Order: sequence, then structure tokens, then C-alpha cells
Amino acid sequence: MTTPSAATVVAGLRATFATGRTRPLDWRLNQLAALRALLTEQSEAFQQALHTDLGKGPTEAYRTEIGFTVRELDHTVEHLKQWLEPKAAAVPAVFQPAEARVVREPLGVVLVIAPWNYPLQLALAPLVGALAAGNTVLVKPSELAPATSATMARLLPQYLDPEAVAVVEGAVPETTALLEQRFDHIFYTGNGAVGRIVMAAAAKHLTPVTLELGGKSPVIVDTDADLAVTAQRLVRGKFLNAGQTCVAPDYVLAVGDTAAELTAELATAVQEIYGDDPSADPEYGRIVNTRHFDRLTALLADGRTVTGGTHDRDARYLAPTVLADVSPEAPVMRAEIFGPILPVLPVPDLDAAIAFVNERDKPLALYAFTESDLTKQRLAEETSSGALVFGLPVSHLAVPELPFGGVGESGMGRYHGEYSIDTFSHTKAVLDKPLH
Ligand code: NAD
Repeated sequence: MTTPSAATVVAGLRATFATGRTRPLDWRLNQLAALRALLTEQSEAFQQALHTDLGKGPTEAYRTEIGFTVRELDHTVEHLKQWLEPKAAAVPAVFQPAEARVVREPLGVVLVIAPWNYPLQLALAPLVGALAAGNTVLVKPSELAPATSATMARLLPQYLDPEAVAVVEGAVPETTALLEQRFDHIFYTGNGAVGRIVMAAAAKHLTPVTLELGGKSPVIVDTDADLAVTAQRLVRGKFLNAGQTCVAPDYVLAVGDTAAELTAELATAVQEIYGDDPSADPEYGRIVNTRHFDRLTALLADGRTVTGGTHDRDARYLAPTVLADVSPEAPVMRAEIFGPILPVLPVPDLDAAIAFVNERDKPLALYAFTESDLTKQRLAEETSSGALVFGLPVSHLAVPELPFGGVGESGMGRYHGEYSIDTFSHTKAVLDKPLH
């Protein structure tokens, strides 16, 4: 069988949308139920694929990919009817008698372009929102997670309405061909260089885009923080998926004289959580490919290794690593690390930490460890980031009532829960003035 062209796939999805069958609440809920069945019945197939692509252990694969998507889906199913109810709007006296309301209508055909690091969650959580909003959807998984991509391409059509949801696999040529088509929304997750390509292609058709990008998410550790607790939580957030998480703590700014004690606590926490040999821990992941492995191991020279540093190219294994004595100008401090290396830099005070953050691109997440309400208030008012999180890195994306998205270089737009419905709907104004 020959593969249908991008134009044919999109035309098929557009024809399905035009029938109107994706609009009723029942159809949407049925598709979400089918997606839930897929995730639960095929959980093992997905766990295996995620292990093949990224060495993800079964617990982490379930918690951060499969179970995560199920929770997002359940939250959506629970509230969807209410989210879709038209909202009454007040009408000024001059137009009375009249009624006004705000309705959410589906956009049409949505393109979801997913990355490799959470290749299931970042394809299917946007799919949940796009289906819940009544759209047809084309999912383009990442070619750098080929086992997960193939599993989704095989299984999604078996569970979901195959005329309303299509999976197109492939790399740059296939994605380029897709981007020539007209979509009603493009939802892209990945790096900013490709984000610019996506936005330029979308501009030709005036297609709105959501760009879920990355960058360096800083951590500020203030002088009043409990450093043992801080280290435990930092290690769990940073080394999840071997550091290949868009909201992973990228580097730490240790305020005042906290750096030495913090790095010692980080080494202790790594030992407690991953043991003497993290390569033997089935839950510790691997680097996605040798290109990224070589990029990461070259960064090890940028500081003094406090813990970790050991690596094995054939196994794409790099130990959880903490670096001290790092220059702010070093390569490790220039681009997003996206791997298991955590540099710790001392800064004299909170003012210096805030200035350090504000001199750089607006991050996807800013983390801080402090017990001071004043410090929290200053960070809220004096910095800008996709999210501001105190005390528990990475966890905010699992709070479905919080929007997830970036600002500036870390992206535009937001999703999760009701924010996904906003993203994948048109918010339409309806005014109704009786003729008599
Ligand atoms: P990637 O290489 O898998 O690319 C993402 C997608 O873009 C893939 O589907 C790929 O096929 C497509 N693509 C690649 N080159 C293209 C081109 N020239 N034209 C059109 N499409 C192209 O993933 P990546 O970009 O390496 O992902 C890592 C980045 O994504 C990091 O910066 C990370 O922080 C960011 N990220 C952000 C989030 C978020 O939710 N904000 C989540 C995960 C990752």
C-alpha cells in the first residue's frame, strides 16, 4: 500500500470535520473513552516502546507518560460538559432587549507535532484537548523516538475514529510536507529553531500556533532553605528521564554561602536515590542518541565534578552529575543542557540571582527554594517565566488546573485542562436582538 500524501490526509480530516460529526459532546466523550481504553489496554506496549527509545523504567514511563495522560483525560472528561456551556454576557442598556453569550466552537483540523523526550505524553495530551474541543487531528510523533512513534501509528487508528485522527510518521521531509498544508491550528512542542520554521509556515495560511519550547529553567536556592530537603527534590526533578525534561532544573544559583553545603547535599541525595551505581537502577534513563550523548559529555569539562561524570557511550549512559566552579560564560551555561548535568553557581545575594535570571531569556519555569514570603513575592513581581514554582520542581505540569506554557523564548500559548479547550477552540461572540 502506498503512503497517502500529506494533502490527501489533511483533505480526509477536513472532509470528516465538514460532516459535523466531531461536534456533539457524545462523539468527543466517546473518542476520549476510546483513547483511555488504548492507554490502559496497551500500557505494556507503550512501556516497552518507551524503554526501547529512552531506557525509561516501567514506573517512570507510567507515571510521566501513560498515567499522566490518563489523568489529563479524566480531568477533561469530568469537566468537559461544563466547560462547553455557553457563558451569558451582559448587554448594555442601549441594545436591550437582547441576549449575548460566549460559545466555544471547534477550529477544524489541528496538527500536533511532538518531540522525542516524552514522546507519548507530548503527542497525546494535546490530542486529548484537540478532540475534547471537537476537532479532527493529525499527530506527527518524533522520529527520534521511533519505537513510540511506530506504536502510536499502529494503535491509534485501531481505537480512535480513523477518519478523524491520523498519525503521520517521519522526519524533516515529512514534517515539511505537512507544514505546506493549511491547518486551523498547529501545536508544536520542541526547540525554538524549529518553532520559528513552524511559525513561518503557519503564517502563510494565517494559522494560529501554540509553541511549547524549552530553554534553561533556573533554580534559586536562598539562604533560609533547608538544603537537605532542597537537594532531594532537586535530584528527583533534575534526573527524571536522565535530565531530558523541558522543565528540568537547568542550573542552580546558590545564594550567599550555600553553594558548598548544597553541592554536598546534592551528592548525598544522588547516592540515596540512585545508589552507588545509577546505571544499575532500572528507573534511570538513557540519553536519546549518540549525538546528544557526545554533546553532553563535552560539557563535563566546564566545571569540577562533585558527583557523577561517569559515562558509557555504547549504552548512552551518563551518570547523574553535579558540577561546581562553573563560569557563567561556559558552554554548559549557554544553551539548555537537556541531560543529567546540574551546574551550581554561587551568587552573592537575591538581587544578584534575580539580575542573573532577568539578563537571560524568559524561562519555561523558574524554581526557588525559600521559606520567605517576601522572597516569594519579589520573585513573583520581579521576574517573568512560563511558571514560577516554589519547593517542588517539575510538578506544576501535573496540576491540571494550571496552564502549561512558556513566554518569550520559552514559547507562546498554553494548554492542559480547560486551557487546552481554549487553545483548540474559537471563542465566538453571539449577540441576539429580537426583531420585535
Ligand atoms: P525533536 O527533535 O523531536 O523535534 C520536535 C519535532 O519537530 C519532531 O516531531 C521533529 O520531527 C520536528 N522537526 C525537527 N526538525 C524539523 C524541521 N526542520 N522542520 C519541521 N519539523 C521539524 O525534539 P527537540 O526539538 O530536540 O525537543 C527538545 C526541545 O523541546 C527542548 O528544547 C525542550 O526543552 C523542548 N521541549 C519543550 C516542551 C514543552 O512542553 N514546552 C516539552 C518537551 C520538550
